Amino acid sequence: MLIFKRVKDLQLYIADSKKKGLSVGFVPTMGALHQGHLSLINRSKKSTDLTVCSIFVNPTQFNDKEDLKKYPRTTEADIRLLSSEECDILFIPEVEEVYPPGLSTELDINFSKMAQVMEGEFRPGHFDGMAQVVNRLLDIVLPNELFMGQKDFQQMSIVRSMLLQLKRPIKLISCAIIREDHGLAMSSRNRRLSEKVRNNASVIFNTLKWMKSKIEDEADLKKLKSIAMEKLSVEPFKAEYVEICDGDTLQPITTMAGHEFVVCCLAVWVEKVRLIDNLVLKGDHLLNA
Ligand code: AMP
Repeated sequence: MLIFKRVKDLQLYIADSKKKGLSVGFVPTMGALHQGHLSLINRSKKSTDLTVCSIFVNPTQFNDKEDLKKYPRTTEADIRLLSSEECDILFIPEVEEVYPPGLSTELDINFSKMAQVMEGEFRPGHFDGMAQVVNRLLDIVLPNELFMGQKDFQQMSIVRSMLLQLKRPIKLISCAIIREDHGLAMSSRNRRLSEKVRNNASVIFNTLKWMKSKIEDEADLKKLKSIAMEKLSVEPFKAEYVEICDGDTLQPITTMAGHEFVVCCLAVWVEKVRLIDNLVLKGDHLLNA
């Protein structure tokens, strides 16, 4: 695996590979890699010739300074994992490489209400920072295909909207959520949980599955959400939100009727760690449409 720290060096290598006719797959990450990330790498390796993974903890998408400070950084282990998966390229830049002085990376895109609900409501500014860094990284890597996880469903939908609005010729491939044996969605932040909580965190996926089992056209969604909030607020867990939204617009819905694609998204606090998860309640086949 080749490791690049400088934008220029990476761009030269990629331009050369493209000249040789190779297609490029890109997996942006913030490191502290786990099987969820590796599933994206493998997906990219299957459908493109050259897989580029980036590790960059983007300061502009953290609305909580403490969260940024505590974000796990495990570079040595990440390099070992990526090498063993035979990732072709790791791009691991410093902040100044991504945001050099004088380069305007602010984006003037309207995500409208998509970015105001759920994560957007509880992490103000998060999606502006996320879109800014993804677009900057796309400018650097210029991939043919971009691989993102359904774990961050709202993020993926917003990136899809960004690609459309900017008319970028990049195919977005959404990849399934990889979970631990007992159902907890893998996340870099899981490292900050105690063993005990990690083992009890199946309550999150169980609540999502319970929600799915209750979904029918006549379902009282308000009541289901409030029961789910209760289920997810048993000490030491505390639900921040449980939302049932239209999978395309991300807007909360009050009835299943008239919606073909429905997703339940939630955020839960435990041991000062914020975990997010989601499950498609209706229209699984539309996830990749
Ligand atoms: P992150 O490093 O958390 O910014 O995540 C980088 C990419 O990996 C994003 O596209 C995430 O959605 C994806 N990802 C993170 N966790 C998982 C998981 N458990 N399963 C699948 N994809 C994931």
